[in-house]
Amino acid sequence: MENNKKKGLEIEFHMTGGTGKTSYAKNSSLQKKASDEAKHITLETVQELYKATSPKSLGLADLGCSSGPNTLSTIRDIIEAVEAVHRDTTSSQPSPEFCVFLNDLPRNDFNSIFKALPEFHRELKRDRNGGSPPVFIAAYPGSFYGRLFPDNTLHFVYSSYSLHWLSKVPPAIYDEQGKSMNKGCIYICSSSPEVVSKAYYDQFKEDFSLFLQCRSKELVSGGRMVLILLGREGPGHIDRGNSFFWELLSRTVADLVAPGETEEEKLDSYDVHFYAPTAAEIEGEVIKEGSFELDRLEMLEVDRQTGDNAIGYGKTVAKTVRAIQESMLSQHFGEEILDKLFESYGRLVDEEVAKEDIRPITLVVVLRKL
Ligand code: SAH
Repeated sequence: MENNKKKGLEIEFHMTGGTGKTSYAKNSSLQKKASDEAKHITLETVQELYKATSPKSLGLADLGCSSGPNTLSTIRDIIEAVEAVHRDTTSSQPSPEFCVFLNDLPRNDFNSIFKALPEFHRELKRDRNGGSPPVFIAAYPGSFYGRLFPDNTLHFVYSSYSLHWLSKVPPAIYDEQGKSMNKGCIYICSSSPEVVSKAYYDQFKEDFSLFLQCRSKELVSGGRMVLILLGREGPGHIDRGNSFFWELLSRTVADLVAPGETEEEKLDSYDVHFYAPTAAEIEGEVIKEGSFELDRLEMLEVDRQTGDNAIGYGKTVAKTVRAIQESMLSQHFGEEILDKLFESYGRLVDEEVAKEDIRPITLVVVLRKL
């Protein structure tokens, strides 16, 4: 993956912007369903935090916010949840103000979010008969694998479906000639040599630990984080979980090699900067880093029936993966293969699901800053 190494993901990686047919905004219903399933945990955590600290100005950050309906809907729910506690406990004092920091990589379509803000503020007012709390929203473009905010400015950090993205494809998967040792696969798969899964795990440890260190400076003591990310159930990587979706994508690309629509070498050199950790791997890093207490770690399995019923599960998955991967795939393989690739991919997902269920695992992690 010479490309990635040279230009850097901060320049290349982004969800498909805008609101068109292939945009992330129109193809993120699976993420929405899953974060909705975790919503009670998110809201309970923010309420506990508010009860414990009652700040006059509450700093909230959404890391990897992307653009589309998911971005502001969680913020709205968080504001409502805090207001409910305020009404029940400290209503003699003025309602808190909310400072909302939206973060994503610089290529994210922040403008789409900005355009949705007037309506967001109008709705907040309308739902409260004109008496909306002060809500200040700002964007903080940059990688969350580095400092984003000043010291002690955040009370609550939320991140949904973003932390399974690594800072880079692990450099240790390349040999001395710079060739990927993960031939024929785009993530850890059944034919990957052990050096590949070790390289991915090492990269996860380095990145997640850096993430914790950075956030520990930015969060006030007692501040909370709710991190929702894709993960896996047991120590092995080869299961019918999240890694299986990548395996199916590798197979679909391989099918395009024979008719000459792409080259084997291109498949060999394409690897994703993704990692699905286990609960134990996350816990291990939290303990090692030492700034946070692990309050809760739950595993969710999002029901397959939650796909878009009108188009079926395979197509829903294909559209979702396309909105996420298009920026990277089109640079590597060329845009012209994408329609065919994702059509076949959707079919293959349906075929496989008919044989045996695929069970993508989501982890929900609640951390408290010591
Ligand atoms: N939170 C949204 C979007 C999830 S998509 C939702 O639940 O629907 C994942 C997002 O994480 C993408 O927008 C991607 O650009 C962002 N992301 C990935 N790596 C990142 C990094 N290192 N720093 C900041 N954002 C990142």
